Amino acid sequence: MNTRDSDHMISELEKKEGYILTDKPSEADLILINTCSVREKPERKLFSEIGQFAKLKKPGAKIGVCGCTASHMGEDIIKKAPSVDFVLGARNVSKITEVIHRPKAVEVSIDYDDSTYVYDIARNTGIKALLNISIGCDKKCAYCIVPHTRGKEISIPLDLLLREAKKLVDNGVKEIMLLGQNVNNYGVRFSDKHPKINFSGLLSELGKIEGLKRIRFTSPHPLHMDDEFLEEFARNPKVCKSIHIPLQSGSSKILKAMRRGYTKEWYLDRINRLKSLVPEVGISTDIIVGFPTESNEDFEDTMDVLEKVRFDTLYSFIYSPRPHTESASWSDDLMVDAKVAQDRLARLQARHREILSEDAKKEIGKIHNVLIENTKEAFDGMRGFSEGRSDNGRLIKIFDSMHSIGEILRVEVTKCDGGSLFGRVC
Ligand code: SF4
Repeated sequence: MNTRDSDHMISELEKKEGYILTDKPSEADLILINTCSVREKPERKLFSEIGQFAKLKKPGAKIGVCGCTASHMGEDIIKKAPSVDFVLGARNVSKITEVIHRPKAVEVSIDYDDSTYVYDIARNTGIKALLNISIGCDKKCAYCIVPHTRGKEISIPLDLLLREAKKLVDNGVKEIMLLGQNVNNYGVRFSDKHPKINFSGLLSELGKIEGLKRIRFTSPHPLHMDDEFLEEFARNPKVCKSIHIPLQSGSSKILKAMRRGYTKEWYLDRINRLKSLVPEVGISTDIIVGFPTESNEDFEDTMDVLEKVRFDTLYSFIYSPRPHTESASWSDDLMVDAKVAQDRLARLQARHREILSEDAKKEIGKIHNVLIENTKEAFDGMRGFSEGRSDNGRLIKIFDSMHSIGEILRVEVTKCDGGSLFGRVC
């Protein structure tokens, strides 16, 4: 989401103010730090980064702090770091060309409606592009700061999305990644009168765009994984058969404490339905370990889901309290001991690595359609290779010959090393 927001700001600055990108901070007239606040560590780094840029910048250059930390800290950022010239919240990115002219501007409203703002795609996005389909989130997960930084959920109108997607395809894009906090809740609210449409309808409309080869999205919410959505996912040939389904915990008790709105049984039921429709589907997930009150038994439930689903990719973290969230106010005696949480995370990740290498062996001999995303020429005795992702999200390296970025090839998996896959064009 932040990458997409950065693209929007860069595009606006290029088109309306004549800025160009530089990778040398000492030459920049404007330095933007686009922040994340989902976890604690990147937020802690913000002030040391501001300090570094303040030393490096040339006289008169401006520093702006954008994104989610900007949303929830607002003017405190300028109080703490006077070298900052403006603060621009995550829901206000289209105001970038205004705030650069207003000394010490602070624009952090989370009610601002950016959903009908027409962005000009000025950046060369290559073969893959990100497309925001909604802004904000209506959920109230106990640990999550996002509703406080990005505000209420609002969907971007279908006609704007189709126009932007077509423009991307005209510029050479082959794969679009749809973004939203809960993509499969698309259509829940528009800023104006808008014909009723849900996420399945949006996928179907995007699928009609000529020249668009692949559609991916992140993230759907398990609660909204109804049969209509799963059937469209299975049926639509342009929708890649890989999906991120955030689990967070395998324990129904912890899911309730997290206010996730589903149970372990519901999650597994949806996965079973999905696998019955798309047996080769690739599934990734997020898991938080050590959430307050998580017992050994609760953690075993998480291990049980890992065993049953056998995720292709796992993003796993130890719980850390975030400001403005419900769980941040819970008493210390509900917290899980740091060492216990660390051991649980290590066990979860170790078992996941084993699953990956067990499953990689089963891939040998399978044939996938692979979109080439990267090539490396032979160098200094190293063999050159091309690599790309299969429809179900697996990264495959091809050593036999060089291919062009953007090509879609039939590739047979011939070898694996741990969880890594190697193949040849067939
Ligand atoms: S669904 Fe929950 S975790 Fe996801 S953005 Fe919304 S509040 Fe945060």
